[in-house]
Amino acid sequence: MPASLKQILSIVTFLLSTLGCLSQQTNFSLIPKKDTVNVYREMLNDNSDDLMENHPAEDIYNNIWRSDRVNPYKIPIDSMPDSVRIDCSNFFVPVPGSITSEFGPRRFRFHYGVDLRLKVGDSVRSAFSGKVRIIDYEARGYGNYIVIRHNNGLETVYGHLSAVLVSLNQTIKAGQLIALGGNTGHSTGPHLHFETRYIGNALNPIHLFDFATGHARAHTYLITKKGSFYYQHEVHVTQLAKYYKVRKKDNLGRIAARNGTNIRALCKLNGIKPKTHLKPGMRLRIR
Ligand SMILES: [Zn+2]
Repeated sequence: MPASLKQILSIVTFLLSTLGCLSQQTNFSLIPKKDTVNVYREMLNDNSDDLMENHPAEDIYNNIWRSDRVNPYKIPIDSMPDSVRIDCSNFFVPVPGSITSEFGPRRFRFHYGVDLRLKVGDSVRSAFSGKVRIIDYEARGYGNYIVIRHNNGLETVYGHLSAVLVSLNQTIKAGQLIALGGNTGHSTGPHLHFETRYIGNALNPIHLFDFATGHARAHTYLITKKGSFYYQHEVHVTQLAKYYKVRKKDNLGRIAARNGTNIRALCKLNGIKPKTHLKPGMRLRIR
């Protein structure tokens, strides 16, 4: 090989190796390591949370915004403010119609809302303006349900829906169509299960709204520890309640003795008389 050609080849090889080196350096400097990418991503997320994502009533809710449970706040009623005024002036009734089941203790669990009559497919509307915090399904409870956080500090729950027409984190106006009524979950007929909560704790909706007229009872509702959470004792009693399934040849005396109680107490708890005939399989409350 002539010397000049050899020289040219060595120059080309040198140039190529320099380029390779440069390109490697370029790669190294422009594409950060995975860790760095994650840090950037986290910084971006933090910023977007702070600057772009405003959730309703954030200060009241201590910046907690979660989509996995109805009450993630776990604020005991004792530690709540003594009184809070809630603006109800923009209330829109979720479904027009009558209440089929009231707020309060039920036989086996506490009913934290009211049931409103509807037909499957009827429109369900948001009670106030706000933002969708939960869309979920609970086979043994709410069925298809939505939770909305409102600008006035309340949260509302809509259960047993046949269809959900909004998406998570969507901003909602008062009276906006959000779902279609149904009979999903633990439900014995089409209805809307409707709850009103403040920092996770249920309020009796009929104290705030008149479902017969479809209007709020007043422009504002004053939440007070004593007045609004009057039912706490009943929740406690419901949780303590124990039941007994009547067997063949059982009588009240035997059931009372077996469960450490007496006939009078059993009669009072169950609204029966000492001589009431007990059918096997019947459930008696013993505590
Ligand atoms: Zn209900």
